[in-house]
Amino acid sequence: MSAFDDLYAANAKFAEQFGNSGLTGRAARGLAVVTCMDSRIDPLGLLGLRPGDAKILRNAGARVTDDVLRTLVLAVYLLGVERVLVMPHTDCGMAKATDEDVYKLTSDRGVDTRSLEFHTVPDQNEALRHDLTRIRSTPFLPSGMPIAGAIYDVHTGRLTPSPH
Ligand code: ZN
Repeated sequence: MSAFDDLYAANAKFAEQFGNSGLTGRAARGLAVVTCMDSRIDPLGLLGLRPGDAKILRNAGARVTDDVLRTLVLAVYLLGVERVLVMPHTDCGMAKATDEDVYKLTSDRGVDTRSLEFHTVPDQNEALRHDLTRIRSTPFLPSGMPIAGAIYDVHTGRLTPSPH
């Protein structure tokens, strides 16, 4: 028994029915979505997408970090991405804590995480504006590429486009 047996068993059934063997690694809908790791978000489902359609980049808070930028560059030049949607969500844990709070929480468990930057979100709209600006102003992506932000409501399933 391992902690992952349930997953391997589920996959065995999945593989029996597998029908996506013809897909390539290119984003068929030319889309990359940057969103949060929150387990309530089904990025494909909520955007009407299917496997093969889009690159999905997830991290805590849907933040545009150096690694997200690196991944977007690869997604654009190698994998057919032509537009990027940054999609944070309501009720995000990252908007309810500061980096200091996280340091304290881990410290209570005997772990010093002060060398990590958690990119917590004191103001969600401001963070989204900042992250969109970061993508739009990077010299590494084609200028004029459509970049948008929208906030996903985890209680209604509704997406609200950001004015930024
Ligand atoms: Zn979140």
